[in-house]
Amino acid sequence: MSELRWHLLLEEWVPESDYHIAVFENRFPSYTGEQGRCEVVCYTPVHDSSLGEQSVEHIQDLIEVWRDRTNELGRLPNVRYVYVFENRGEAIGVTLSHPHGQIYGYPFVPPVVQRELAAEARYARKNGRCLYCDVIEGETSGQRTVARNDRWIAFVPPFARWPYEVHLAPLQHRGGLADLDDEDNLAFARLLKDLLQRYDRLFNFPLPYVMAMHQRPPGRGHRQHHFHVEFYPPNRSRNKMKFLAGSELGAGAFILDARAEDTAAELRAL
Ligand SMILES: [Zn+2]
Ligand SMILES: [Zn+2]
Repeated sequence: MSELRWHLLLEEWVPESDYHIAVFENRFPSYTGEQGRCEVVCYTPVHDSSLGEQSVEHIQDLIEVWRDRTNELGRLPNVRYVYVFENRGEAIGVTLSHPHGQIYGYPFVPPVVQRELAAEARYARKNGRCLYCDVIEGETSGQRTVARNDRWIAFVPPFARWPYEVHLAPLQHRGGLADLDDEDNLAFARLLKDLLQRYDRLFNFPLPYVMAMHQRPPGRGHRQHHFHVEFYPPNRSRNKMKFLAGSELGAGAFILDARAEDTAAELRAL
């Protein structure tokens, strides 16, 4: 763990300048207590940089850090789920502009993951296969593919709720960060960088997004879960945001005016 100091007047973190990747406990967490854990991961000491600008080797190291923290937090008696995520950009409400992500150790399995696990279990019972493996199978035509390599695929899912939503997933069945081998890590780092660079080229500015890693809960169960990373940029276009309004907030029904095939083609062409 590297040390960070909170600058009271500038309201920013002051990291040690010689670190590679730093992890520290969040001192102003939105969710904490004896029950859970909140950690901040500083991707790099370079302030005006981003995850997508890091070298593939650096991103590989970061994946190692995510994996180590997943294993470490997953072993804590109160932690039932380890959630790795990033909020990027002021549009998402980020006050700390230094490139960073977060890790929450929840004392429960959060609702979105619970719903995925339940759907996957139902699907496996009915069809004897992994739901998400079949979702990937459905992407062979490449119409919704943004990029892919020998181990990972990035695609706009047919059920996307945001215009430029992308899922990044291993082609082979893996449950979470702990299940990735070195080859998986390398291919993951390459495609993650590829996707983030496309995002920043889309409108020629650093695209705001939420990056959400959906991995299986710690322990031996939930083998039906297929690891994937979901990205939700709030932009509909260069200067228009998608706002969650009556249908989304009040009825839980997302309305989209973009076709997954079209936004995928746009991202693929960049
Ligand atoms: Zn699978
Ligand atoms: Zn998911």
